[in-house]
Amino acid sequence: MELNETPKTNFIHQEIDNDLSENKNGGAVLTRFPPEPNGYLHIGHAKSICLNFGLGKHYKGGTNLRFDDTNPTKEDTEYVDSIKEDVNWLGFQWNDEPKFTSDYFEQLYQWAVLFIKNGKAYVDDQSAEEIAEQKGTPTTPGKESPNRNNSVEENLDLFERMRKGEFQNGERVLRAKIDMASPNMHMRDPLMYRIIHAHHHRTGNDWCIYPMYDFAHGQGDFKEGITHSICTLEFEVHRPLYNWFLEQILEFQPELKALPKPRQIEFARLNLNYTVMSKRKLLQLVNDNYVAGWDDPRMPTISGYRRRGYTPESIRKFADQIGVAKRENVIDVALLEHCIREDLNKKTPRVYAVLNPVKVIITNYPEGEVEWMEAINNPEDEGMGSRKLPFSREIYIERDDFMENAPRKFFRMDVGREVRLKNAYIVKCESIKKDENGEISEIYCTYDPDTKSGMEGSNRKVKGTLHWVSVEHAKAIQVKQYDRLFMDESPDGHKDKEFLDFLNPNSLSVINTCYIEPNYKDASTKFTDGIDRYQFQRLGYFCVDKDSTEDKVIFNRTVTLKDSWAKKKK
Ligand code: ATP
Ligand code: MG
Repeated sequence: MELNETPKTNFIHQEIDNDLSENKNGGAVLTRFPPEPNGYLHIGHAKSICLNFGLGKHYKGGTNLRFDDTNPTKEDTEYVDSIKEDVNWLGFQWNDEPKFTSDYFEQLYQWAVLFIKNGKAYVDDQSAEEIAEQKGTPTTPGKESPNRNNSVEENLDLFERMRKGEFQNGERVLRAKIDMASPNMHMRDPLMYRIIHAHHHRTGNDWCIYPMYDFAHGQGDFKEGITHSICTLEFEVHRPLYNWFLEQILEFQPELKALPKPRQIEFARLNLNYTVMSKRKLLQLVNDNYVAGWDDPRMPTISGYRRRGYTPESIRKFADQIGVAKRENVIDVALLEHCIREDLNKKTPRVYAVLNPVKVIITNYPEGEVEWMEAINNPEDEGMGSRKLPFSREIYIERDDFMENAPRKFFRMDVGREVRLKNAYIVKCESIKKDENGEISEIYCTYDPDTKSGMEGSNRKVKGTLHWVSVEHAKAIQVKQYDRLFMDESPDGHKDKEFLDFLNPNSLSVINTCYIEPNYKDASTKFTDGIDRYQFQRLGYFCVDKDSTEDKVIFNRTVTLKDSWAKKKK
């Protein structure tokens, strides 16, 4: 899917179309993506981003980026910056400047005061445990707080003193006065404000009281003129509260009734097998050094996928394929891998690299001679042109491509057999040399000069075709190959075990010396995000890691060539 292609429509389009047909909000549509800056974005967020920005684009109203920064103890500007970078890299641009819930702290405070003045909120000095105990259960009503009927004056005074910092964390909270017997537990006098004495990454020490998500989110939507506030299913039970807060404000300030009124719509979050997506768990992987950072190529973060070599197009395509529904399900990670393979197959130049080299000497090839063979860069795209590949007397091939006394069906190299060296000649293996450990150190071949690639003689049928790199010209590189980070389909779905128990000890393997053709950079690339991506012929898709230097080039394996998803679908 190209960016200008229209994504599939879903049930949310229908809801919005209905709203438009009733001329709600004067026909305006504005969505938002509201991350909390307490971690890096993951592939689940990518689903939400594609959905929200996709709707914004479809209805031509655009999308706000709003940082939901109401918990100073967990949030940081590092996360703010990474989130902006990731949204942009995915190919989306938010309306105007990014927004922050902290921009609305004063307004939220003023609204909270109105709730108190109208007898709709009160300060409670009970402990969190006491409040929890009085909540009741879904089938039994809760108990009213002894502070529930305190006077407006007393509440105003206490709330102001909360703001001034006269109380310690947890000593007081502001609660909405709704209904302790409501069948919806979220309506049983939910918290609106709590005390947190901590430095906030934007407001510094201006505040020591912070609004709760439920009180902040809908009001933030309203302030910004958001018309459709799309969130994941767990917020469905919060929707009555979302609406209640807003209805009260419109009653206190009827002049606001003319403004767009946001509507919450829920969809099923993305769950991916073999993957954990909770930010708390991802943070734990980073902090406890199970991975090398948020952008470790094994992480399901957007920055991790980027470093791994995924393209923004492949992630958008994935988001489109999985669709948007109202029911929870688990998506096979093989579908994501399928999406990146498809994209890279079309866009990457093919190059030759040998990961586990063994030397081959072509004994009848003249010493010192070099031939520059023509190799096309991408059979899927002629426009990507071709390059010149040096061939000489000594080459590397993959150790796996030779087998002594191989069975008949091994279509690679063995003594006495012929194979084709792609883009070069047909060679015949004559003998091998082993070192003192019995490992093959050199392979001796002869070549047939009449079988040069592109010449008539090259049409001769041989069973195997191998890739190779000229020893004299090879460039040494480091290659990092990745496997799934977790060995279990549902690493956080076990009662008796924790997700860390399922870490794959072999998720990273580093090969320090591999060889790549020297001119790989000449193979034209099509990537606008500055990342060089390739197909190493017969091996998989690889990209140049950002930590590479002139002297030490590091390649990350994005994905192997074998597509388990496409196979399943057959
Ligand atoms: P986590 O549970 O990983 O901490 P979160 O929901 O707390 O995630 P937020 O930063 O609040 O993280 O999320 C921003 C937006 O992304 C929210 O609208 C949220 O609903 C959405 N989102 C988070 N996880 C997923 C997911 N797995 N699939 C789809 N949307 C998601
Ligand atoms: Mg959240």
